[in-house]
Amino acid sequence: MKRLPMNESVTISDVVVNGWCTGCGTCAGCCPADALSMEPTADGRYVSQLDENRCTACGLCRKVCPPANENFRPLNEFVFGGLPDNVLLGNHRGCFLAHSADADIRFRATSGGCVTTLLLGLLRSRQIDGAVVARLAADDPLRAESFIARTEGEILSAIGSKYLPVPVNTMLSQIGSESGRFAYVGLPCHIHGLRRAQMAIPALKEKIPFLFGLVCSRTMSHHGWRLVLDKMGVNPGDIRELKFRGDGWPGGLTVTMCDGSLKTMPMLGSWFSEIFGGFYFSQPYCALCDDVLADYADISFADAYLPEVIKADKVGTSIVIGRTEAGRALIEQMRSDEQLEASDLSANRVLASQGFVTLYKKRNLPARVRILSWLGRSIPITLKGRTEGFLRPTIWDYLTAMVPCLNIRISRNRFTRGMLRRMPLGLLSFLRKSYKWLLMRQSKSLLEDR
Ligand SMILES: Cc1cc2nc3c(=O)[nH]c(=O)nc-3n(C[C@H](O)[C@H](O)[C@H](O)COP(=O)(O)OP(=O)(O)OC[C@H]3O[C@@H](n4cnc5c(N)ncnc54)[C@H](O)[C@@H]3O)c2cc1C
Ligand code: SF4
Ligand code: SF4
Ligand code: SF4
Repeated sequence: MKRLPMNESVTISDVVVNGWCTGCGTCAGCCPADALSMEPTADGRYVSQLDENRCTACGLCRKVCPPANENFRPLNEFVFGGLPDNVLLGNHRGCFLAHSADADIRFRATSGGCVTTLLLGLLRSRQIDGAVVARLAADDPLRAESFIARTEGEILSAIGSKYLPVPVNTMLSQIGSESGRFAYVGLPCHIHGLRRAQMAIPALKEKIPFLFGLVCSRTMSHHGWRLVLDKMGVNPGDIRELKFRGDGWPGGLTVTMCDGSLKTMPMLGSWFSEIFGGFYFSQPYCALCDDVLADYADISFADAYLPEVIKADKVGTSIVIGRTEAGRALIEQMRSDEQLEASDLSANRVLASQGFVTLYKKRNLPARVRILSWLGRSIPITLKGRTEGFLRPTIWDYLTAMVPCLNIRISRNRFTRGMLRRMPLGLLSFLRKSYKWLLMRQSKSLLEDR
C-alpha cells in the first residue's frame, strides 16, 4: 500500500497505511456508519479496515484515534485539569503496594489481584452494572477477546493478563447502546483511545466512570506464543486450556493439554521472558509507544518488580497508582473495607520498579522519533514535535533506539524468524540483558532525582 503523509486524511487511512495502527479498536467502536471493522493481519495484529461505501466522511474516527492526534496536553487537561509535575510517572494522587485480601484471588491473579478485587467491589456496591474485561476465546486459546462481565462469576472468569492483541475499544459501540455504568480495563493504548472517545462523545464519560489501566511495555502476537509453545513441546491444536501467568508470582505459562496433562514454563529466565521481553512479534507501534504506566487511567496497575518483593513474595503483589480523585478514593474505600491490603509507596519506588521500560518509553523515544524521520518515515501526530513529557536523549539512547524496531522486523521476516527460532536461549538472554544495561547505564540518578 502507498504510504500517505500523516494528517492528510479525513478518516484513519493514513494511520493504517503508515503502520501506526495500535489495533485499539476505538475508531471501529465509535463509527456511526458502521464503516470500520478490526481485521486480523498475517503477522497476528488487528488493524482497522475501512468500507468506503459506508463512510459518510464525518471525521469522528480520526478525532478519536490516538496516533492521529496530539494527546499529551489535551488528555492531561481533559482528565486531570493540567500537566503532571513528574513526567515519568504522570499525574497521580497516591501510589500503593497492594494485594487482594482474598487469598484465592491473590493467588490466581497475575500480580496481586487488585484489578479483579476492585471490579468486584464496584459491582457489589452497585457503582457499576458491569465491566469490560478480556478472556481467551473458547475456540482458540491463542486469541483474546473482550466482553462485558455483569456478574461476580464473569469477573472472576476473566482474571489474569492476556498477553495478546485485543481490540478492546470495539466494545464502545455496545456500551453506547446500553443503559447503566461500566468499568473498563485496558492497556495504555486502549485508555488513550477511550479518553479521546469520551472527549468527542460526552455521554461516554457518564457511562464509563472507572478506567483501569494495565501497565504495558508491549504485547505479542500469537506467532510469538506459538514459538514459545514449540519450545515447550506443545502443539497448539492439543491445548485444552492456556494461562499466561497466575497461580503464584511471578508465575509462567501453564498449558492443560487435551489428554489432561500439564506443561509449564516459568516467566523469568525462559523463552517466555526472552521472546516476549525482547519485543519480538510485537506490533510496530509498541516500539514507538510513549506510555507505559497508563498515564490517563483512573487507576494504573503493575507488577511490583522491587527487590524486597521479588525476594519475599511468591503469591502476588501489585503496584497501584491512583491517578484521578475517583481512583484514589476507590482504593482508600476498598482498603478501609478490608477488601484490599495496601501500603503507601513513594513515586520513586514506583519508578524504580518500572525503571527500564519507563526510561525506554519516555527518554529513549525522541531518539527513535529522530531516527525514523532521518529514514524518511512518517511520525504519528501524537509524537511529532512534542517536547513535554520526553526527556533529553543521550548517546546511549541513540545506540539502543533501534533494538526493539529491529527485533520486530526480525520476527516479521520468514528467514530471520527461522534464525531466531534456532538461536540458543543463552544468546537471546545475553542480547536482551546487554540492551537493558546500555539503556540503564546513565539512568540511576534520573530515577532517584524524581
Ligand atoms: C499485554 C500486557 C502487557 C503488560 N506489561 C506489563 C509490564 O511490562 N510491566 C508490568 O508491571 N505489568 C505489565 N502488565 C500488567 C500485569 O500483567 C497485570 O495485568 C497487572 O499487574 C494487574 O494485575 P492484577 O493481578 O491486579 O490483575 P487481575 O486481577 O489478574 O486482572 C486482570 C484484568 O485485566 C483484564 N485483561 C487481561 N488482559 C487484558 C488485555 N490484554 N486487555 C485488556 N484487559 C485485559 C482481565 O480480564 C482482568 O479483568 C501487562 C499486562 C498486559 C495484558
Ligand atoms: S469518517 Fe465517519 S463514517 Fe467514515 S469511517 Fe470515520 S467515523 Fe465512520
Ligand atoms: S483508533 Fe485505534 S484501531 Fe482505529 S486506526 Fe486509530 S489506532 Fe487503529
Ligand atoms: S506498548 Fe503501547 S501500543 Fe503496544 S500494546 Fe502496550 S500500550 Fe499498546
